[in-house]
Order: sequence, then structure tokens, then C-alpha cells
Amino acid sequence: MPGESLRENGVVGAGGAGFPTYVKASSKAEILVVNAAECEPLLRKDQTILSLYPDKVLDGVQRMMEYISAEKAIIGIKAKHEKIVSRLKNLLKKRKNMEISQLKDYYPAGDEFCLVYDTTGRNIPMGALPLDVGVVVNNVETLLNVAGNMPVTEKFLTVTGAVRKPFTSNVPVGIRWAELIKFAGGALCGDFAAIDGGPMMGKVITDFSLPVTKTSSGLIVLPKKHPLIAKKARGEKRVSQVGKSACDQCSYCTEFCPRYLLGHKLNPHRAMRHLLFSSLGEGLRSEFALLCSGCSLCSLYSCPENLDPSSVCEISRRNLAQRNIGIKNSALDFKTPPTVHPLRAGRQAPVKKLVRKLDLLKYDAQAPFVEFNYPVQNVKIMLSQHIGAPAKAVVSEGQSVAKGDVIAHPAEGNLAVSMHASISGIVTKVTSGYIEITNE
Ligand code: SF4
Ligand code: SF4
Repeated sequence: MPGESLRENGVVGAGGAGFPTYVKASSKAEILVVNAAECEPLLRKDQTILSLYPDKVLDGVQRMMEYISAEKAIIGIKAKHEKIVSRLKNLLKKRKNMEISQLKDYYPAGDEFCLVYDTTGRNIPMGALPLDVGVVVNNVETLLNVAGNMPVTEKFLTVTGAVRKPFTSNVPVGIRWAELIKFAGGALCGDFAAIDGGPMMGKVITDFSLPVTKTSSGLIVLPKKHPLIAKKARGEKRVSQVGKSACDQCSYCTEFCPRYLLGHKLNPHRAMRHLLFSSLGEGLRSEFALLCSGCSLCSLYSCPENLDPSSVCEISRRNLAQRNIGIKNSALDFKTPPTVHPLRAGRQAPVKKLVRKLDLLKYDAQAPFVEFNYPVQNVKIMLSQHIGAPAKAVVSEGQSVAKGDVIAHPAEGNLAVSMHASISGIVTKVTSGYIEITNE
């Protein structure tokens, strides 16, 4: 199989989705789009990788182009990264069939549907994939791992927010968030929570013994009382109660929805209307939700009432899945191709404005690259870090392993990859969910 080494090396989408890369490498597509948009505010890992290893990333681009027989590659990067763009332009003089597409600084420029449209002009139909329009999309870090041709044992990420020394670095997979907060000089506030991922799509965590996985992109530490934490931590009951009583159907959530602006029949205000016509606790079944990417723009930017249509869509999707209703058997009209909204460009959410709206201006710091010289003594490597079946442990407690050794094999069937030791040491725990390695 093309890209079998990617499976053995445990390469999965490092942008957050965690799709096994060998599956993408087995497809054929005309264009490879490199996702260097990094549109989540405050995160800096992709720009750091491109500053440090631009040539290596381009090696990964070349390799992936060969796997999928692509005629060309387009690097989608925001024009604001002037230095990186200029360096890439110079490097591309020595490469064949690679070009740059400079993106505006809007959120969510890195959403695959938006990115593919902005870089290629191809509008992915509703419920379809980039491959349906002849495109494969890979994140910058994924391509760095493709070029590396060795086991994935480290993860690039940014730790920022209310910490003394915000940083970006490559850390061992499986290290606990608590240790990364310590490496960042500790939190600046007593009672804090954090967002695992970007402020828009990340989830609130308060358990810092959780480990970094291959899809982690960063941690944003914030005071527990910060409005973003409070809003993200609202329970589903509260989301439904408030939405039911306060939504005035102004439809701003729809008018600014990135997928609606691409012409998809996604109407979050109509998903909210479902709340008005159902009893609390009753399952939500708005099929519009099936087209939602979960970008949270409607909830954290568009809604003037501070409501949460994104979560309502998420609840709907789950309730529909319980009834075995998905894109293929829904009543949505997929036959009409989407037509881009004429006002799309004027309605995109500028990241600067978004940062202000999220009340994150004071945390919008550099987070420079630093060598990760922290003495890691223990890692917890999850066996499910990607879309697909969890890997199966092949080591037992008490066994010695070296960094890079295989500790779990891919499960049977598709969508499965190997896992590797991210530090050298002794296997101290093996369960069906994770493997711990200690080097004390
Ligand atoms: S923007 Fe807010 S108030 Fe307006 S329709 Fe959407 S959820 Fe309701
Ligand atoms: S989260 Fe909201 S804005 Fe984003 S795609 Fe879904 S409905 Fe649209």
C-alpha cells in the first residue's frame, strides 16, 4: 500500500482531526493543498514549524504529491506572515509545481471547505470531501512528519494565556498538561482552567493530568472566571434553556456562518428554532446540524444574544446519530450544487476583531519557540489518538523500551496506525486505553 511507512510510523493529521495519513496517501488527487492557515487565535505551532523547517515541510509536500500523483501543491498561508511567505517564495524557486496562496486573516480560514475554495476556487459540495473535487488537504505538521519518515513521538504545540512564559515547542506525546504549565513558568492566576486546543474549537479542561496526544495543538490557560471559560463550560441543559427563551430568530448566526456563506443549506437559526418547538430534554433533530463544522463562530462571534447555536447543532447531530440519521439518509437537498454567497468576503470574521470579542487581547502574545529541555519522567500514551480503531498494546508491564520503539500495533482493518514510545524507560502500566512509560 502506498504510504505503508506512514501507517507504521503512526502519522495522523496533526491539525486536530487525526485522520490517518496513510489513507489520504492511498488516494489520487490533482491538487495537494497545504493547510498553513492556523486560524485559531493565539496558537503559533504551524507558523513556528514553517519558520524553523520550511525545506523539510516542502520535502513532505513533495513526498505526498508523489503518493497521490498530484499535478501541483498549493500552500494556503495567511498573507500576514510576511517573513515566512517571502522565505517560502525563495525556496519554491527550486521546487516544481508548488505555489503559495495568500489568505486573508479571517476565521475559519483553515476550515477545509473554506481553504479549498480560497486556494483552488473549487467549492466542495455539501456532505462531500475535498477528494470529491480532486483535492487532498494536509496540515503543515503532518507534512513535516511525512518528511521525517520516522516514528511520531513528538508534538508541536503552544502553551499560552495566563502563564508566565508562553511558549511553542515540540514535546513528547503523552506528557501531562500540568508539566507543560510548569514549563511555562506556572499560571498567573490562582483559580484557573484551560482550553485544550484553540479558543474557538477547543474544549475546557480542569484535569491537568490529561496527556498530550498527536492531535493536541495547544493549551490556553485562563482564569476560571474568564467569560470564554464560563461560556464554554455551560452544560447542555443551560444552553437549551437559555436558547429556548432568548433566541429572537434574528438569523445573524446563519448570515455569518462560513458554510452558509459557501452556499450550503446550513441554517443554525433554524436549528435554534427547533429548540423553541420542542420540550426541554426532548431530543433535537435539526438536520441542518449535519452540515455544521463545529467552528463555533455563531456562538462566540455572531450571536448578539450570547447564545450557543454551535452546541445546539452538536446536540442535534448526536441525537440524529442515535436515530441512525446521517448525511446520506437525511431529507436535505444535496442535488443542488452550492453557490457562494455574493457577500461572503465582507462577512468573514477578522481574527483581530474575534480576539477582542473573545476578551483575549491581553493574552495574544508571541509564544516563541523554546527548546523543550524539561526532564520528562513519565508519559501516558493513549491508544486512541486518531479517527478509527484504537491501537493494540504489544508491550507488557516491566518491559524496557527505547524512544521510537513500537508499543502498540494498528487494529485490524482500515483507519488504524501504530503507536511508539515517546521516551525511553520501563512500561509501568498497560490498559486497553493507554500505556504508561516511566524513566525514573
Ligand atoms: S444569532 Fe442568536 S438570537 Fe439570532 S437567531 Fe441566531 S441564536 Fe438566535
Ligand atoms: S458552528 Fe455555527 S458558524 Fe460554524 S459551521 Fe456550525 S452553524 Fe456554522
